[in-house]
Amino acid sequence: MPVLKPTIKNIKLCSNIINHGDVVAFPTETVYGLGADVFNENAVIKIFEIKKRPRFDPLIVHISDISDIDKIAHKPPERIKKLLKKFWPGPLTVILKKKNSVPDVVTAGLDTVAVRMPSNSIAFQLIKTSKTPIAAPSANRFTRLSPTRAEHVLKQLGSNIFVLDGGKTVYGVESTIIKYERGNIYLLRPGALSPEKIEKEFGKKLLMPVAGKIESPGQFKKHYSPDKKLIIVRDEDEIKISEDAGYISFKDRPLKKYRFSAVLSEKGDLYEAASNLFDILNKAEDASIKKIYVQRVPLNGIGFAIMDRLKRAEGL
Ligand code: AMP
Ligand code: MG
Repeated sequence: MPVLKPTIKNIKLCSNIINHGDVVAFPTETVYGLGADVFNENAVIKIFEIKKRPRFDPLIVHISDISDIDKIAHKPPERIKKLLKKFWPGPLTVILKKKNSVPDVVTAGLDTVAVRMPSNSIAFQLIKTSKTPIAAPSANRFTRLSPTRAEHVLKQLGSNIFVLDGGKTVYGVESTIIKYERGNIYLLRPGALSPEKIEKEFGKKLLMPVAGKIESPGQFKKHYSPDKKLIIVRDEDEIKISEDAGYISFKDRPLKKYRFSAVLSEKGDLYEAASNLFDILNKAEDASIKKIYVQRVPLNGIGFAIMDRLKRAEGL
């Protein structure tokens, strides 16, 4: 039903829906989000119900101006402020000390809140016209493939939800989540902004959270998964070809014949590969195959986030 062109009128309509305590799906530069007014507890609960997301998995709050931080969180440390000035609007989420104004359901009871200012102009206008920060996780069912097109949202969440259609998202993987603690930055989730870029600006290596300590409760081992078996391979030699297998390569055209095959980026461009990743996995999910082989990509830049998603989709 309601896939909406992102006209000013439709964005206004969606702001009204948000202000009336309902949810809408909208594009960001990373993936599509399912948003609600952060200060409306019942509206936020709807997000968890629609996504079938466990309540212990907190949401990211989206703002349209850096000064909006004051509405939801305490002032960021100076070194983080500097990063935000450099990378916002954009695919960087920071964990900040939360204010009491944010309902506990948003942060799963944590005393911190995840904040981001998206650069997608539809998302920006939606937040601005709603005049409230918008809590929004990705617009997919919990643990399933992330949506990078309006159609993916409909496929997973059904057609009762209003979706602003902004076409295919630019980055195609979620934001990078970081947390500052005693002079260090911890990388809680690899994402569209590469660790190298943050390190260059921060002047120090990012640290990984201690294994076993769940810093970002949403970083489950199984996540971002298609409804078929996904197997990561180094190259095609590792694949025992069978009728029910598909193959997604990084840049080389497949040599063997598969029932489904696709190339992430023929140019070998990791940004293009990231942008195509969930779109191709969605197509693979719809193909009549039982397992999907996916070739590893290099770990530099956004490739680190691609491999993170693939490993979680493999879910071993
Ligand atoms: P998504 O559903 O893709 O938007 O995922 C949001 C991610 O943000 C999840 O991995 C959450 O665990 C993480 N997150 C949200 N709030 C916090 C927080 N206060 N501290 C740490 N991680 C958070
Ligand atoms: Mg998600």
